[in-house]
Amino acid sequence: MKAKSVQQILAPPPAHMVGNGFRVHNFFPNGYDMKPDRMSPFFLLDYNAKMDFSPREIPRGVGVHPHRGFETVTIAYHGAIAHADSRGNQGVIEAGDVQWMTAASGVLHKEYHESSYSRQGGAFQMVQLWINLPAKDKMGFPKYQAIRNTDIPKYELPDNKGDIEIIAGSYRGMKGAADTFTPIELYNIRMKPETKVSLELPAHYNTGILVVEGESFVQEKERAVTDHFVLFRNDGIRIDLETRETSCMLLLMSGEPIPEPIVSYGPFLMNTKEEIIKAIRDVHDGKFGYLED
Ligand code: MN
Repeated sequence: MKAKSVQQILAPPPAHMVGNGFRVHNFFPNGYDMKPDRMSPFFLLDYNAKMDFSPREIPRGVGVHPHRGFETVTIAYHGAIAHADSRGNQGVIEAGDVQWMTAASGVLHKEYHESSYSRQGGAFQMVQLWINLPAKDKMGFPKYQAIRNTDIPKYELPDNKGDIEIIAGSYRGMKGAADTFTPIELYNIRMKPETKVSLELPAHYNTGILVVEGESFVQEKERAVTDHFVLFRNDGIRIDLETRETSCMLLLMSGEPIPEPIVSYGPFLMNTKEEIIKAIRDVHDGKFGYLED
């Protein structure tokens, strides 16, 4: 079985603030000179590397804004995020949890540090992925999957060497927690020192690994360290991961590309420019509902 070769190991690009609550490194589509469909169906990866926020009475975050045409997937590693949307959904994403929001035809939402975390301050680390939807599902009804860490199936590695949390897709017959519109594999891979893991993924799936913590050797010789992103070529099916002296936590994302045109503008991800113009008009016309800031 041929291995997927490593195209590049990307250092985190300079960070920018999203609102005042998220200090993110954008690996794609803007951080590097990648085609907008290079990681399709994943359109955007914003990574808030681990950092400390000072205690604050009024939670930091990002106020009411729309989304249409895709899904936002928020994975919390440290800290906690409170969200609310114009369809009446609200909740808290605690460390270890995943929120899979299907914006589809449109929601307004807001994303803030959860109030008790905000008052206390401390470590904060999270990922937000934007996952494209096929044209036929872009105008479907919005939905949420609030996935608690305890609801995520965990494949235990032999000899107590770590585990694989299957957020979406499947690993060794174990099915992931999230429902997806197109084939997607999304795993948190936790490995203790001196551990090996092998994965098989279809050759045509776009695939990358974010090193959330520690370091890992990929395809034997490529060393990937904390906050770096490993981009694979679509030339094989096997990925071999290995830790040596240091443990690691990796976020693996792999998915079948959506072979459709992409037109993106701010918080909208559609197929044509006309659909973008309509999205902007629909927000103004109140078709995304109402949400108080
Ligand atoms: Mn948002």
